[in-house]
Amino acid sequence: MGKIDDYIAANSLKPSSTLYHTNRNIEGTGKIRVLVPKSDGIARVEYKCPKCGHESYAEQGWKRPFSIKCAGCGTKIGVPKLKQQFKRDMKKGKA
Ligand SMILES: [Zn+2]
Repeated sequence: MGKIDDYIAANSLKPSSTLYHTNRNIEGTGKIRVLVPKSDGIARVEYKCPKCGHESYAEQGWKRPFSIKCAGCGTKIGVPKLKQQFKRDMKKGKA
């Protein structure tokens, strides 16, 4: 289990007590998962860097648009906007 899954289980967190929760693939090889509980407004982030493959967990204050710096190579990893991702998936014929 990941840190975010552990946090959800430990706090019996329900979707209604969540400010934001997303799980996305980035550029095919990377991924980012963000969970922001309403209780403290701190973003819990699990990511895999699409550039260097570094996988890590981090916490930082939540703001939009959200991005986190890879601890491995310093690349800024952002949460892809849904609309952009949708367009890409349309092109690939997945949607
Ligand atoms: Zn990296």
